[in-house]
Amino acid sequence: MSHLYAIAIGSNRPHGRHGRPPGVVEAAIARLDQEFGLFDASPIVLNAAHGGAGRDFANAVALVESDLEPADMLARLKRLERELGRRPGRRWGPRVVDLDIALWSGGEFRSRALTIPHRQLGRRSFVLQPLATIAPGWRVGSLSIRHLAHRLARRRPRGLTARQVGSPAISPAFAARRNVGVITQ
Ligand code: AMP
Repeated sequence: MSHLYAIAIGSNRPHGRHGRPPGVVEAAIARLDQEFGLFDASPIVLNAAHGGAGRDFANAVALVESDLEPADMLARLKRLERELGRRPGRRWGPRVVDLDIALWSGGEFRSRALTIPHRQLGRRSFVLQPLATIAPGWRVGSLSIRHLAHRLARRRPRGLTARQVGSPAISPAFAARRNVGVITQ
């Protein structure tokens, strides 16, 4: 059975080949497209670092379709993280790329290794904000993503200051084919 997954992507460290964090996020989106066939992807946004990591993060959310069950999807994402240059290290340290399962179409899922919806989803504007651009009506319990994003923005009016960044390396053909937002400053 095919499932829809919302994958939260974050990077706050440059990569030798993919360049600065927005380029790394873009490369991760392209890899997810190769691996699963992208259903949609949000614009890439820049967010001030959290948790003392010290460098700005580039974030985006991709929607992918897959027959994989959550545990297998997590294993696949871990492999992609390694492929994209992630090395195990400090949880909040600089990281080339982080791929988390924000939501899946199967509703709630809980195992020792995995909780979906992601435990931090309701507190992370760097996930809710891009997710709201591509799946505003997706419901988490009784609330929509749009509602959760607005609620968090109201609560933290001076919180994260996200700005959308240009993604020149996303080719217009890729953007057109996949309806990926290419935002220029
Ligand atoms: P980190 O890479 O530091 O974000 O931590 C990833 C670990 O968090 C994974 O190895 C999972 O065991 C666990 N985890 C729990 N829920 C999730 C989720 N929804 N998506 C990804 N990882 C999760």
